Amino acid sequence: MGTELLMGQIVNTNAAFIANQLALQGLVSHYQTVVGDNPDRLAQTMRTCLARCDCLIVTGGLGPTQDDITMETAALVAGRRLALHQPSLDVIEGMFRGRGHVMTDNNRKQAMLPEGCTVMPNGAGTAPGAILEFEMDGKSKAVILLPGPPNEMQAMFLGQAAPYLAGRSPYAVRNYFVRMTGIGESQAEDMLKDLIAAQTNPTIASYVSLGEVMFRVTQFARDAQEPDRAGDLVREIRRRMEPYVYEVGLRTMKEVAADLLRERGLTVSFAESCTAGMASSLFGDIPGISAVFKGSIVCYANEVKTSLLGVPESVLERFGAVSEECVIHMANGCRKAMNTDCAVAVSGVAGPDGAPPDKPVGLVYLAVADASGYEVRKMNFPGDRARIRSLAASNVFDLLRRRLLRKS
Ligand code: ATP
Ligand code: MG
Repeated sequence: MGTELLMGQIVNTNAAFIANQLALQGLVSHYQTVVGDNPDRLAQTMRTCLARCDCLIVTGGLGPTQDDITMETAALVAGRRLALHQPSLDVIEGMFRGRGHVMTDNNRKQAMLPEGCTVMPNGAGTAPGAILEFEMDGKSKAVILLPGPPNEMQAMFLGQAAPYLAGRSPYAVRNYFVRMTGIGESQAEDMLKDLIAAQTNPTIASYVSLGEVMFRVTQFARDAQEPDRAGDLVREIRRRMEPYVYEVGLRTMKEVAADLLRERGLTVSFAESCTAGMASSLFGDIPGISAVFKGSIVCYANEVKTSLLGVPESVLERFGAVSEECVIHMANGCRKAMNTDCAVAVSGVAGPDGAPPDKPVGLVYLAVADASGYEVRKMNFPGDRARIRSLAASNVFDLLRRRLLRKS
């Protein structure tokens, strides 16, 4: 719902989120429609959608303003009257009071809900959502109404709409996620091609993102007692792809690295040249990371590599800042300066200009140092500056992760 979606002012990320969640639940979604804030066209669209599905999910247009018409239009289509839902009004009034504001009259509108609906409280905003079940042309239909702001929509979907849908799904769906790095999609698929060719149930789907390949294995089981064939398949995939697999589950690579540090009671710091703090920022996304991550030194200039990390000027002169020798000194120096158990250093040519004559754009050196020594990794990344820097940051976590595993 929303004219701003039609005009391209915002991207319909809600549709992508919901579609992905439905797929994970084994629910088939057939259509996605965008419609503007117009009562007639919305009512018409809702009727068309309901004629071709069992359940219609709508996001947006639950707000207090004049152009927020989703709730009343859904009620109209379902043949229900709107009635004041006092518990919702109390919550909305309470939210305003809590912020020291007086509720304006138009916010009352958000508590006007279709009679007989299931109300979904909104933990993150004022507009409650609703599930409306009714008969249309002799068939039972459901409309699920969710707020537009993605944070409110996602929380309400996961907490309230998804359990409702799961009860209506004919399957017990099993999903596994096998995450790999250090291998390309085509090579990974080639190593699994017989399994992919033979897939029916469970199915195998691959997803590629920067520097990573993920396989999703999904089994549509009749019930929870059905043997876990997806689990068997995952074990086989894992056996073949072992050196590349960093996680079977939901954790990202940086989360795996963070957990390894936590389990081993170790601390880390980064010395970042070409990534200029990107790896640190990514690590900072993880709640509680301060227990293992002490800090970083962003060392763009050679002068800083020398003054803060103790990289000898002779090393920089002889081998350059993008070299094996330099990253080893950076990692050791960082470990010492930050007083951490391990340190990872990264230095490379991000381009597009300024590459030294003997060093191509995309050349990146990384080093990890700890009490028992160090390891170096040399990479040649393809692509533009943004891609090279992101791949370099992701390799910081991979190098750290592999070092921690080897030492256990
Ligand atoms: P509000 O109370 O904020 O008015 P609402 O339920 O009426 O909430 P909308 O007015 O449709 O929702 O959207 C509110 C905001 O949510 C939009 O300005 C936009 O930033 C975001 N939003 C809405 N729909 C989508 C969508 N499909 N994808 C991504 N973001 C969206
Ligand atoms: Mg609105």
